[in-house]
Amino acid sequence: MPIATVNPANGETLKTYEAMGEEEIERRLQLAEATFRTYRTTSFEERARLLNRAAEVLDEAQQDIARVMTTEMGKPVKQARAEAAKCAKAMRWYAAHAEALLADEEPSQADVEDSGGSRARVVYRPLGPVLAVMPWNFPLWQVIRFAAPALMAGNVGLLKHASNVPQTALFLEDLFHQAGYTQGCFQTLLVGSGAIDDILRDERVKAATLTGSEPAGRAVASTAGDMVKKTVLELGGSDPYLVMPSADIDRAAQVAVTARVQNNGQSCIAAKRFIVHTDVYDRFAERFVAGMKALKVGDPLEEDTEVGPLSSEQGRSDLEELVDDARRSGASVLCGGERPDGPGWYYPPTVVADVTREMRIHREETFGPVATLYRAADLDEAVLIANDSPFGLSSNVWTRDEAEVDRCVRDLEAGGVFVNGMTASHPAFPFGGVKRSGYGRELSGHGIREFCNITTVWHG
Ligand code: NAP
Repeated sequence: MPIATVNPANGETLKTYEAMGEEEIERRLQLAEATFRTYRTTSFEERARLLNRAAEVLDEAQQDIARVMTTEMGKPVKQARAEAAKCAKAMRWYAAHAEALLADEEPSQADVEDSGGSRARVVYRPLGPVLAVMPWNFPLWQVIRFAAPALMAGNVGLLKHASNVPQTALFLEDLFHQAGYTQGCFQTLLVGSGAIDDILRDERVKAATLTGSEPAGRAVASTAGDMVKKTVLELGGSDPYLVMPSADIDRAAQVAVTARVQNNGQSCIAAKRFIVHTDVYDRFAERFVAGMKALKVGDPLEEDTEVGPLSSEQGRSDLEELVDDARRSGASVLCGGERPDGPGWYYPPTVVADVTREMRIHREETFGPVATLYRAADLDEAVLIANDSPFGLSSNVWTRDEAEVDRCVRDLEAGGVFVNGMTASHPAFPFGGVKRSGYGRELSGHGIREFCNITTVWHG
């Protein structure tokens, strides 16, 4: 894949970049290693000062970088600005909380004595240069949610961003430099995915985090496994959205629309499978379909656009194939389902009902504004359908019945259960999945500790 900005709204190639060669990669790896030697000794106060400054620089650049993101991957510009604001918030959150999250831990005196020691503590030390392989869908957020905790922990970052968002990738490197970080603290490696294996095998790279598809995750985890290096994987999702009779059905249907089409439907934590109790199915379906039909699809640079184009032609044909396969196998398409004529990689908000287990759309991730709708006889069946997926990222349940909530928290196979609302990430809450959605956690104290050397200090 060429490293280039291609506008998804019209298919026009706006900028192409040469991939960095071996010499430049070597220079950057050397710089990362050398910088880590000193950066690791900086105080939390100094790291917080730099990160808060980076948040300010980002706030100042918000309008410009939002337009760049929209031009590179097609998200509505309003959502792009919100993404930039969310990144600044996460930076400030980690600047404020990292020291407490990584404070030394003291085992109980009874345990210390039981070990034959006089004193003991657990300290969190940084690992070194961490490679971040990142996707295009939230081109700022995915990177910042890695970078903010990693830098606060004393690590340095090497970013391999998706090939279709090179301007955002270069902006990120520049952002940290402008904030006052020394050159090697955060560097962008402008390379294709073919260069990752060698970089990850390099002894100077200590760990890797990947957000992206399952094949990419498998490739990076295999190499890292071979080299015995720590990884965190945030992969695909096909989150269920359960609606039970006691819920506020109108609200559930309204939020369902946003939960499905946010970021043009290209979000790992978008609700994708809507599993509705039979007693409220018709009412929910009618309102949900009406909401999907009413969305304003169009130029993502327009302020009132709600759904823009998909990020690539390939992404659109992959999505289209899933819908066509379902239709051929007997599913009903309640709205959308036909690609429009004209330039750009647009696909309309689509609802597919009467889905069966055999259909590809049931098992695969729909990365675009396509929802599948299921009818469940009761909560048992709803949970069965929800868990009948290779993925386990997050989940949503709408009910006013606490016993049903407890049942979902116990039984849904996912890294999150969001009740009467849609899944959203927040710096204070751990984020990540189970099953083929990956492993490890980002954000919160769990995220910052993933790339730490958790060290026992014991005194005899
Ligand atoms: P992708 O094709 O897997 O790309 C993600 C990153 O991996 C890119 O930087 C890509 O580089 C690189 N890559 C691809 N193949 C690789 C390989 N064999 N070895 C090393 N690196 C490789 O995914 P995407 O299409 O950008 O993103 C969509 C997927 O990401 C969806 O499945 C979505 O659910 C998932 N996602 C998950 C989360 C989460 O938090 N769980 C968040 C967002 C997205 P190139 O661009 O150069 O190919």
